[in-house]
Amino acid sequence: SGKLYQFKLVLLGESAVGKSSLVLRFVKDQFDDYRESTIGAAFLTQTISLDDNTTVKFEIWDTAGQERYKSLAPMYYRNANCAVVVYDITQPSSLDKAKSWVKELQRQADPNIVIALAGNKSDLNARRAIDSEEAQAYATDTGLLFFETSAKTAVNVNELFTSIAKKMPLE
Ligand code: GDP
Ligand code: MG
Repeated sequence: SGKLYQFKLVLLGESAVGKSSLVLRFVKDQFDDYRESTIGAAFLTQTISLDDNTTVKFEIWDTAGQERYKSLAPMYYRNANCAVVVYDITQPSSLDKAKSWVKELQRQADPNIVIALAGNKSDLNARRAIDSEEAQAYATDTGLLFFETSAKTAVNVNELFTSIAKKMPLE
């Protein structure tokens, strides 16, 4: 018989980078070009089955308040086991913002938190403003998982969440 593990996952990053879209793709395998922005926090769950008869259930907190009211953020990432920090590969300022979230998590969140950096909107490669290699080097130096994702085309979305599941301490 298999084992079930449950983890709290938070999404952080600048407004409009695609946090809610990544969650919608992962949980419902859908994408919406004209999504209404998140109001407050949305809570969704999704499970991943790993090869070894293990199931990981993510409780996903998709937040919007943190974008404007930074003081709310600790409430969301408190007790989080993992975080996805998202930037938009076409918006350089969004990577700066992502880096500041990573610093804050590394200082203030659970010391064992697993953090993944997601460079989203990889389908907009023609408008790319952030080099993959540069972001990968930053992620490696900082101890983060790293994927370039597209919530629109679904590229690397399951891979992102599966690699987080595999990095969680399962015992
Ligand atoms: P959030 O504010 O970070 O939650 O961002 P949203 O998920 O609301 O997305 C903001 C906008 O970017 C919406 O118009 C989405 O349709 C669009 N978007 C999100 N992900 C992608 C993606 O991977 N590719 C493209 N081309 N657009 C995306
Ligand atoms: Mg949102």
